[in-house]
Amino acid sequence: MYIVQIASECAPVIKAGGLGDVVYGLSRDLEIRGNCVELILPKYDCMRYDHIWGLHDAYRELWVPWYGAAIHCSVYCGWVHGQVCFFIEPHSNDNFFNRGYYYGGNDDTMRFAFFSKAALEFLLKSNKRPDVIHCHDWQTGLVPVMLFEMYKYHGMENQRVCYTIHNFKHQGIAGADILWATGLYREPYYFNYDHLGDNFNPFALNFMKGGIVYSNYVNTVSPHHAWEARHTDISYGLGHTIHLHQHKFSGILNGLNYQMWNPEVDNYIPYHYDKEDLQGKEWNKKALRERLLLSNEDKPLVAFIGRLDEQKGVHLVHHAIYYALGRGAQFVLLGSATESGINARFWHEKNFLNNNPDCHLEIGFNEELAHLIYAGADMIVVPSNYEPCGLTQVIGLKYGTVPIVRGVGGLVNTVFDRDYDQNTPPEKRNGYMFYQGDNYALESAMDRAIGLWQNYREEFHKLVIQGMEYDYSWNDPGTQYLEVYDHIRHK
Ligand code: ADP
Repeated sequence: MYIVQIASECAPVIKAGGLGDVVYGLSRDLEIRGNCVELILPKYDCMRYDHIWGLHDAYRELWVPWYGAAIHCSVYCGWVHGQVCFFIEPHSNDNFFNRGYYYGGNDDTMRFAFFSKAALEFLLKSNKRPDVIHCHDWQTGLVPVMLFEMYKYHGMENQRVCYTIHNFKHQGIAGADILWATGLYREPYYFNYDHLGDNFNPFALNFMKGGIVYSNYVNTVSPHHAWEARHTDISYGLGHTIHLHQHKFSGILNGLNYQMWNPEVDNYIPYHYDKEDLQGKEWNKKALRERLLLSNEDKPLVAFIGRLDEQKGVHLVHHAIYYALGRGAQFVLLGSATESGINARFWHEKNFLNNNPDCHLEIGFNEELAHLIYAGADMIVVPSNYEPCGLTQVIGLKYGTVPIVRGVGGLVNTVFDRDYDQNTPPEKRNGYMFYQGDNYALESAMDRAIGLWQNYREEFHKLVIQGMEYDYSWNDPGTQYLEVYDHIRHK
């Protein structure tokens, strides 16, 4: 099968969070199974060019219709760890992707509407006719809209679209100018509730809604989150749209790329290890402590890695730091905040805890350090308010780092409580779970985990190994996506 993924991220070259990991990991898996996979991405100035091999211009004269005129683009081609990627570079004063950031501009909807249009134009002009176009999140929600409203009539009538929602929170809300820019025009038609009209704001268009309405198949990234999207208010107002389109909606758990995330081969960690021999993990813990100037005592090390965002339960992350310290554990945090209030709060904590030999807060994005933390920590907390899938707990499991998670979204599909999970036999349990969003709930789970480490080290060790035995690779999810592609291809 010939599959083109259109996305705003691809790890490790463009990564703000799990989306990047998933786009890369899924592409690799599909290709290893014998499919032809190509990626179309924006050419950001701030991406990690050191992870691209053989970058060359592949299509120089791409003219993308825009506001009744056209913007000149160049398309570059290169390999990201074996994966063919096309990068679109517009040459215009809008300067869409040369701003030193991936997201966060006032005109983000314009930037990604343009990218979506340019990606389709590139497919059309370069005569690429994939069986399936796979789009991700709001940034590419307009791709199926434009494909089925415009490009279908210019020679792309056989293409089918799979649309994956990684996070319902960001939906791409825009006004009518998007229609004039992209050439979709007909305002009353697109503002209609059955098309792109936002479910709550009659004066707004919703990209993600467009993705849901127009795609041949829609999924979110875990079965439990798909259930939440149907039955709770977690989908930020898109519940009714999901309900109307539920015949083509499901949840497919994200996989993890075990070439990139594997303590047996990980290039970013000083000592390799596996579940037969965990000595390397001990040495990594020591290396992590040395790097972060933490004391080297017989204490468990608890970590948090993730975006510091309301979604991630920042109030509980904050509490977890102090609870761990009070309970005789060490704590390491690696996180970046886009919201200034949250950023300021964690900088304040960082300064306050600066001289504490049991605690280190690293604020910012650091891929290399993340690997060392997964390898060196004993436990990882994931106290999210909601979590479509969550990768940090899955990475933690692979690295023998016991997850302590809140029972929401994909966390429910991947972590099974050591003490209380009645549906999982004891020898298959792999972590700790709490449900309520208050400090006490978090404490009860952390207390059990830290207590096991302190008082029953052998039992803790067993739990670590049980977690490492899980297979959350792309094996199963890759098969499921292929089934979806096959299903929509023959419709
Ligand atoms: P989300 O997609 O909501 O950000 P996920 O748990 O699905 O959360 O994926 C997070 C990914 O981003 C993981 O690979 C994690 O290691 C990585 N990550 C998150 N924050 C940071 C950071 N500050 N530095 C390095 N890696 C990070």
